[in-house]
Amino acid sequence: MKIAKIELGEIRIPLVTPFKTALRTVDSVNDIVVRITADDGREGFGEAPATAVITGDTKGSIVTAVRDFIAPAITGMDIEDMDGIMGRLHKCIVKNTSAKAAVDMAVYDLYAKNLNRPLYKILGGGQDAIETDITISVNDTEEMVRDSLRGVEQGFRILKVKVGKDGTGDVERIAAIRQAVGKDIVIRVDANQGWQPKEAVRIIRAMEDKGLDIDLVEQPVNAHDFEGMKYVTSQVFTPVLADESVFSPQDAIRLIWEGAADLINIKLMKTGGIYEALKICGIAESFGVECMTGCMLESKLAVSAAAHLAAARGVITRHDLDGPALCRTDPYEGGPVFAGAQITMTEEPGIGITKVPAVFA
Ligand code: MG
Repeated sequence: MKIAKIELGEIRIPLVTPFKTALRTVDSVNDIVVRITADDGREGFGEAPATAVITGDTKGSIVTAVRDFIAPAITGMDIEDMDGIMGRLHKCIVKNTSAKAAVDMAVYDLYAKNLNRPLYKILGGGQDAIETDITISVNDTEEMVRDSLRGVEQGFRILKVKVGKDGTGDVERIAAIRQAVGKDIVIRVDANQGWQPKEAVRIIRAMEDKGLDIDLVEQPVNAHDFEGMKYVTSQVFTPVLADESVFSPQDAIRLIWEGAADLINIKLMKTGGIYEALKICGIAESFGVECMTGCMLESKLAVSAAAHLAAARGVITRHDLDGPALCRTDPYEGGPVFAGAQITMTEEPGIGITKVPAVFA
């Protein structure tokens, strides 16, 4: 089976409520989709959001990277030559991880379809279902409490609460949420680089002193401040999860070596796809470091690829794959079943998505 054609399209899905973090506010998923057609007519699909504030990728840069660099580099290659395809994919252009991720997942989709197996089974696949948290956006306390209670009503047992916009006010917000949802709900906190190192320690210790029982604090300080990450990690009991600090396997090695976090958040849009994500899984596993898998504002297509990876690898113990839960509609057919917090894998070959409603060219 050879790669015959790589085409691009666009998909837009409104969100249930606007997505607000310390870095941005967005009201719809608006992503580039990739379709790879093989010489036997079978199709593989991938998706990339333009998350400029995190990856630096814009819609224009994703389109240009795929159309002018990646497609010419891998078209005509045999889908069984995964090693060769990935070598070219990652060498033909540096950075551009979202564009690479979209193509990488479409390649894996075809690779698994060629073997007539679900992707997660090929990647190592033990679990046939995983549980995701749901993100609570940064708002005033009342609204965040309301959103948290709605999440719990919908069956989510794990909340990932966005903070980092106004320092110590964050402690009160989390305290109000804990009070409202009770002690059995898991609360994770994501500061999206919003704190200074000493400020982070003060806030996290305050949460610890109040007994708020926080599962983890994600990316408390600036992505490039490994010293700051290390300082926070060493000064608090709550586990620190690196997100924006770790894009590549090299970042993961440095982070673990320097003791700059307790956990690593793997996102396909940061790694450039499943191939590099598997390397981070291997590195983390070797050092006994657990991982989370997360997503950007992605719809079911890209999140399904991440779900296959997560279901396959035991080192990924936490799942933040709520992209589809935040979308107002699901325009796809096939693939893993997203029902509230529960993501159930299916036996369809590849990623499983059979219909992507976009105009490809
Ligand atoms: Mg994060």
